[in-house]
Amino acid sequence: MIAAPAIEIEGLTKTYGSVKALRGVDLRVKRGEILGFLGPNGAGKTTTIRCLLDLIRPRSGRMRVLGLDPAKDPVAVRARTGYLPGELNMEGNLTVAQALHYLNELRGRRSDWSFVLHLAGRLELDPAVPIKNLSKGNKQKVGLIQALMHRPELLLLDEPTSGLDPLMQQEVYRLLREARDGGATVFFSSHVISEVEAIAERVAIIRRGVIVEEAAPGRLIDMSLRRYRVRFSEPVEVTPLIALPGVLPVGSTDGMEITLQVEGEVDRLIKALASFPVSDLQSEHLSLEELFLAYYRDDGKGKGG
Ligand code: ATP
Repeated sequence: MIAAPAIEIEGLTKTYGSVKALRGVDLRVKRGEILGFLGPNGAGKTTTIRCLLDLIRPRSGRMRVLGLDPAKDPVAVRARTGYLPGELNMEGNLTVAQALHYLNELRGRRSDWSFVLHLAGRLELDPAVPIKNLSKGNKQKVGLIQALMHRPELLLLDEPTSGLDPLMQQEVYRLLREARDGGATVFFSSHVISEVEAIAERVAIIRRGVIVEEAAPGRLIDMSLRRYRVRFSEPVEVTPLIALPGVLPVGSTDGMEITLQVEGEVDRLIKALASFPVSDLQSEHLSLEELFLAYYRDDGKGKGG
C-alpha cells in the first residue's frame, strides 16, 4: 500500500474575529521531504501548524496528517508527530531531564533515553539544569529535543532555530537532515530565507493566509523572477519597456543602460527590445532573499497581489 502524503491541506480557512488568518491554504507535503514554510510575521504559518495538530479548529477546508483527519484522530496524529511550538510552556521547577522524563512517560516511554541524552549532547544542553534557569535559546533546545526524542514520522516545527546561535543552528540542520534520512518528514516554518535555502528541499511561501508559491528553492528562483541588464549603443527612451506587464525597473537609468526585473514570461520584453539599439544583454538570477522581498512588496505590482 502506498503511504498517504505526510500532509494534505485543501482550502483551509481560519478567522480570529475579523482577522482572516488563513484564506484558503492548499498544500501537500510528501513523505520524507523537508519543506520550508516561509512567510513574514502574521502570514499564517503558526495558525496552519496549529490546525494540523487540532490545537485550533479551522473554519473550513480539509486536512490530512499522515492520512488521518486531525479533528477525528487528534491523539494518533500527536503520537506520530513531533511538534515544536513557537513558545514552549514547560514546568519551570523541573530540570531538563525531569521534564523530558515526564513527557516520555506521558508518551508511553517510546523514547530511548540514550537518544535523549545524545540529542542533549549534540545541542550542548545540560539536562541537570532547572527549566526556569534556562536562557531563551536553551529553552528552544528543550523544545527541539522533545519534538525529536520519540523519532516521530512527522516533525512540525515552528521556527526551529529561533534564538539559537549560528553554530547551534547548523547542528539543528544536521539533526533535521538525520531525522529525514531516518525516514521522517520535516515541515518547518521560518522567516529566515538563508535557513530555508540551507535545508529545505521545497519551499512554500505563504502571504496573507494564502500559499503564493511552492517549489524547490532553486526552481523558485529560476522560474519566478529574472533580472536583465540591458546596454544600448545610443541613449534611448525606456518608457515603453517599463510599461510592459510584469516588468519593473531596478534603480535609475541614464538612457544608456537599464536593469529590468521581469516576472513570468520574458518573451514580451525580448520582442520589445528588438526595436531598440541593444549592445549588450545580461541575465541575472535573483536570490531567494530578493524573490521573497518581491513577493511582499506592497506597491501593487508584487507577485502575491
Ligand atoms: P509569526 O512569524 O509572527 O509567528 P505567523 O505567520 O505564524 O507569524 P500567525 O501567528 O499564524 O502568523 O498569524 C496569522 C494572523 O492571525 C495574524 O494577523 C495574527 O495577528 C492573527 N492571529 C493569530 N493568532 C491569533 C489569535 N489568537 N487571536 C487573534 N488573532 C490572531
